Amino acid sequence: MTYPNWLSQRSFLSGSRMALSFKEQQWTFEEINEIALEYAGKLAALGVRQESRVAILAKSNPEFVFVMYGCLHVGCEMVMLNERLAAPELAYQIDDSKAEFVLADDELQGKVADRNPVLFSAIRETIPARFDIQPQWDKERTISIMYTSGTTGNPKGVRQTAENHFSSAVSSALNIGISPEDVWLCSVPLFHISGFSILMRSLIYGMGVRLYEKFDAKRSAEEICNGTVTHMSLVGVMLERVLSNVEEASMNASPRFKAILAGGGPIPVAYIQRAERCGIPVLQTYGMTETSSQTTTLQSADAERKIGSSGKPLFLYQVKIEGTGQPGEKGEILIQGPQVTPGYIGKFSDRNVKEDGWLHTGDIGYMDEEGFLFVIDRRSDLIVSGGENIYPAEIEKVLLAHPAVREAGVCGVTDAQWGEIPAAFVVLNAPAEAEELIDYCKDQIASYKVPKRLSFVEALPRNASNKLLRRELKQWN
Ligand code: ATP
Ligand code: MG
Repeated sequence: MTYPNWLSQRSFLSGSRMALSFKEQQWTFEEINEIALEYAGKLAALGVRQESRVAILAKSNPEFVFVMYGCLHVGCEMVMLNERLAAPELAYQIDDSKAEFVLADDELQGKVADRNPVLFSAIRETIPARFDIQPQWDKERTISIMYTSGTTGNPKGVRQTAENHFSSAVSSALNIGISPEDVWLCSVPLFHISGFSILMRSLIYGMGVRLYEKFDAKRSAEEICNGTVTHMSLVGVMLERVLSNVEEASMNASPRFKAILAGGGPIPVAYIQRAERCGIPVLQTYGMTETSSQTTTLQSADAERKIGSSGKPLFLYQVKIEGTGQPGEKGEILIQGPQVTPGYIGKFSDRNVKEDGWLHTGDIGYMDEEGFLFVIDRRSDLIVSGGENIYPAEIEKVLLAHPAVREAGVCGVTDAQWGEIPAAFVVLNAPAEAEELIDYCKDQIASYKVPKRLSFVEALPRNASNKLLRRELKQWN
C-alpha cells in the first residue's frame, strides 16, 4: 500500500530530463530533487516534521515548487493558500486547518502578517538540518489540503491523498496518452488543483513543466505554435485570448502540440471550432477540488455533437445521476473512484463525503442516451416556484446571449404566491431597458422561468475564483 518516493524515483529513472522551466531557467529531475532535499533539510531545521501541517502562501514561481517538493520529502501535509484571497479569508483557512507553520513568499507576507509567517527568504538562508527521508509514501498519506472555492458556503478543506493524485494523473494519461518529450504549460495557479495536478503529473510521467507566474496569452500562443510545449490547462476566457493571438499571428499549432485541457464550465462551441482551425484539440473537463481535478472529459471530436456536455468519465471513474437510470432525467451528480477525497478537515470534518461509496457533488445534471454528462447547476441554487424546478444557470445563459448584457446573475426570492420567484441582476455593456430583457427571455423560456424582477448593477458578487456568489445576490433583494 505504498508508492516509492516520487521525487527520488523520478530522479533515479530519468534524472537528466527537463523537469521545470521558468523564463530563461530550467532544471532537470536530478537537479530539482537535489534542491528539494536541500529545502527539506532547511524546513526540518525550522522545525517542520513529518507530522506537521504546513500552510503555504506563494505565487506560481520555482521557489514555490522547491518549497512544496521540500515538504514532500519531509512528509508533512501542505495546506495550499490562495494568494488572491484577502487577509481575513486566509486567516479563516489557517485557523480552520490548525496549520502549525505558515510559509509565505516575501511579497505576500502582508496578507498573513499576524500569523508569524516563515518567509521564503528565511527558508533560503537557513542551514539544512538532518531529516529522515521517506523512501516509501503511504497511499493514504495526505499530500495536499485545498480549500474549495466557497461558492455555495464556507470554503471546505479537502484532503488530497497520494492515491488521489496518482489515480488522477494515471487516468489523464490513459485519456490523452503520454510521452517523455511532453511539456505542460502551467499558467493556472499552483495552489489550485488545476496547477498542482500538473506538478503531480510531471513527477509521475517524467514530463516537463513550463511555468508562468501569470497567464500570458501572447507567449502561450507562441509556445503552442513553436512546439516548445505539448499541453496547456486553462479556463474558457483564457482560451479565447490564446486563440485570438494564434489567429492574429496567422499561425497554427505545432504538430507537437497535443491538447488544451479546459475546465471550470462549458466552452462555447465557437471557441472549439476556432481552436480546431488552429490545429488545437480542446478537452473540456468537469471536476472539483474533492476529485483532484478532472473526472469527466469531452473530446474535441464530440464537442460539436454534444454542445454543453462535459463528456464521459475517465477510465478509472464512474459517474451516475442519483435516483434515476433514465437518460435526460435530472438529479444530483454522484462520482466514484480512487480520485475522490477521503474527506474534509476542520469545520467540515464530520461531513460524510461518500454515502454508499459515492461522492455527492452538490451539482445537478443529467446523462443523455449515450452516457454523456451534462452539468446543469448547483443543487443549492435551485429555485422552486409553484412546484416547478428552475435552474438559475439556464436563465443566466439566455440573458448573456443578449448583446447588451455583459454579466447576469439569477437567484430565488421568497414570494407569497409561488413560494419562490426568479430575480435577475444584470451588468450592461450597452444601454437597455429591463422590460426589453424580460421580453427577450419570454421568447426563449417558459413563463415561470422568466425573471419576475430585473435590476441593473455595476458588478456581480464573485469569489477569488471569479465564480458568481448567488447566495450574496439573494441578500440584494
Ligand atoms: P464550494 O464547494 O465551496 O461551494 P466550488 O464547488 O465552487 O466551491 P471548486 O471545487 O473549485 O469549488 O469547484 C468545483 C465546482 O465547479 C463543481 O462542483 C461545479 O459546480 C463547477 N464546475 C467545474 N467544472 C465544471 C464544468 N465543466 N461545467 C459546469 N460546472 C463545472
Ligand atoms: Mg463544491
